[in-house]
Amino acid sequence: MEPTRGDYDMEEVDGINELRERMEAADSVEDWSHILKEYISWGNSKISKNVGIFNMNSATDCPNADSSVESQSSTGACQVPWEDCYAHVSENVYPDTLAYRRRQEYLWDCLDAETFGEAFLSLVSRKRNEVTAVRFSEAGDFRHRGDIIKTDRIAQILAREGIEVYTYSASHKLNWREARNFTVNQSNTVREYGDRLFTALPEGTDLPDSMVWCPHSLEKERKGVTSDEAIQCGDCRLCIEEDGPDVAIHLH
Ligand code: SF4
Repeated sequence: MEPTRGDYDMEEVDGINELRERMEAADSVEDWSHILKEYISWGNSKISKNVGIFNMNSATDCPNADSSVESQSSTGACQVPWEDCYAHVSENVYPDTLAYRRRQEYLWDCLDAETFGEAFLSLVSRKRNEVTAVRFSEAGDFRHRGDIIKTDRIAQILAREGIEVYTYSASHKLNWREARNFTVNQSNTVREYGDRLFTALPEGTDLPDSMVWCPHSLEKERKGVTSDEAIQCGDCRLCIEEDGPDVAIHLH
């Protein structure tokens, strides 16, 4: 049976008691960094391994789940049809994905920005690979003002080590003017917010001067390379930098 969106019993989430026990025992930034380490992933087929990824909620519990421009949620409107949301599909295909993301949400809601940011820098200090950026919300989306303020403070802390924070959001009803220290890619066209528009357009579209094709999408489309072989986010910084053009990916 498909899990119930946004309305679940935390006691039923696999692994929650182990996480709680570890959180109760944590009494230093280093302790928190070891917990956080298990909830940060590094890259995927599109994102460089120098980029950390953290979800503040799952796609199943996304505030914009199953919404559209015509049928908006209280926070926004997703441009991706619900049945095509690959983050949601993966939560129904892979056994631990939904529970893992629900534990991420629990950790996110329990940790203040200072502890999250300092713990992240502590875990980075033990890594051999350089860390250049953090992508928030590969699955899910920003739920409310508190998510923006917390992410903004974390971005301020990470900036001390030159690590930039970026996200894509369809929560157009939130006040994004408070996102002063991280980059927001606007992912619906209901209104203008964030730092740039990030949208999908058919191949062959004549782009305006203010917009470029995403190099990853372009290499896959025109050179026929796989996602792993195309340039990665992190090596390309178009969505990470605050300033710069709007970005289009190819619509399929
Ligand atoms: S434009 Fe660059 S950073 Fe943005 S999605 Fe494409 S490859 Fe990633």
